[in-house]
Amino acid sequence: MKLRIVSPPALVRWYYPDITWHKDRSQPRIFLTFDDGPIPDVTPEVLKILKKEDIKATFFCVGENIVKHPDLFEQIKAGGHHIGNHTYNHLNGSKTPEKEYLENVAQCQSLVHSHLFRPPYARISKNQLRQLKPHYEVVIADVITYDFDQSLSPEACYENAIKYAKNGSIIVFHDNIKARQNMLYALPKAIGHWKSKGFGFGLL
Ligand SMILES: [Zn+2]
Repeated sequence: MKLRIVSPPALVRWYYPDITWHKDRSQPRIFLTFDDGPIPDVTPEVLKILKKEDIKATFFCVGENIVKHPDLFEQIKAGGHHIGNHTYNHLNGSKTPEKEYLENVAQCQSLVHSHLFRPPYARISKNQLRQLKPHYEVVIADVITYDFDQSLSPEACYENAIKYAKNGSIIVFHDNIKARQNMLYALPKAIGHWKSKGFGFGLL
């Protein structure tokens, strides 16, 4: 049995108080986020679902994917969604020398022009965080769906999405190929669930 931490424990959140883990707990709002795009065959499907449901979301884009698919990047922005920085090459902060990491973030920033940053793999050192913090709101999440985990069933992915979600929750989905099947199943079902519970949807 693989251990999947769907909601980061309080100790981790306490250790990183400079990271946004969730938004205002007093408002019944869910914050949908999508990482790793834009990707053909996936991002347009997400945009279609969001448009149908009349929901705006936040897309943490990878710089090299923006360069490969500039039309999709424009489509996301034209849909009224927000864009965040997810590095240029989807780098792992704990495996990348600091200078290289910061340069990679800056390279992505020249494309996204965002006040939001999300570290790939949720890996970031205290020092990297200290250097990025003056320029970005660094966002992780309090609900990780593991949509990218292909050993997880679509139904279990849906359960991950709704189980810990509450007022102000930030939910992580991925608009990438690995997550496609689970995400496209779980997303509309979870939106239906949240709407039936009276939640609205917010933009980061
Ligand atoms: Zn990512």
